[in-house]
Amino acid sequence: MARVYRAAKADPIAAPMPRFFPFSPPLNPRSRVTDLPSAPDPRARAESEGEANMSGSSTRRYKTVLLFGAPGAGKGTQGKILGKVPGFYHLACGDVFRSLDMASDLGRKFMEYSSRGELVPDELTIEMWRQNMHAQTVLSIYKPNVDLLVLDGIPRNVNQAKHLEQYLEVLTVLHLVCPDVEAMVTRMRRRALKENRVDDADEKVIRKRFEVYEKETRPVLDFYPKSIVREVNAMGSPAEVLQHVLEVVVPIQNEHFRNPLS
Ligand code: ADP
Repeated sequence: MARVYRAAKADPIAAPMPRFFPFSPPLNPRSRVTDLPSAPDPRARAESEGEANMSGSSTRRYKTVLLFGAPGAGKGTQGKILGKVPGFYHLACGDVFRSLDMASDLGRKFMEYSSRGELVPDELTIEMWRQNMHAQTVLSIYKPNVDLLVLDGIPRNVNQAKHLEQYLEVLTVLHLVCPDVEAMVTRMRRRALKENRVDDADEKVIRKRFEVYEKETRPVLDFYPKSIVREVNAMGSPAEVLQHVLEVVVPIQNEHFRNPLS
């Protein structure tokens, strides 16, 4: 198929990879995703304004809070609650992967890696994330001018963090800290049964996920300035943890957005 997903010339991540993406084609199959009229894709706008490198700009990137933490720390639980509050938009990378058609090439790739407890390759992950964000903004499900973006599960390594710089203005990295690994493992096993997650059903895969977290994901914390990393105790009931999470995110939302209901 002659669909082209290219969005930037010099970016290897934007290379055409049509066979992996089982999303609806753009209305005009010849148009690039960046050609869609109201697409608030920060990179598309940056390019059109001759700003290939946006790392110095804070005006056009998605204002974002990163939910960060080990598997089972409760990122998804907190993110889902926040996502219900007007003015927050929650997107979990793992959920986007799980929503794929598992018979598609990308769905199969996801199964292949996640069932081993490994990360899906960066190019596929970033491109899938980018297209998903694009769709959410085009459909006005996520409104960058109104909603604080709450990202969960991405970036998962330093390379992803670097690539996301052009799209995100990371205001805070909210690190959910859970020193009790066994408590997290227990949460994951329980979740595996409830949500039918193959990756968390097997003890070996769970341990592997922690290994990957320590080796690849934890270093992401050092990628961001220490001044924006906030630690929140992830032990306790969802409501207790939520109380701490709100203490961090509400002032950020107040500082950067108007009350979405006013
Ligand atoms: P959890 O919420 O338990 O930490 P996720 O649902 O975020 O886990 O992720 C499940 C699996 O999806 C991961 O083990 C990995 O295979 C894949 N995945 C999710 N996000 C990413 C990402 N940003 N990069 C690479 N792989 C990812």
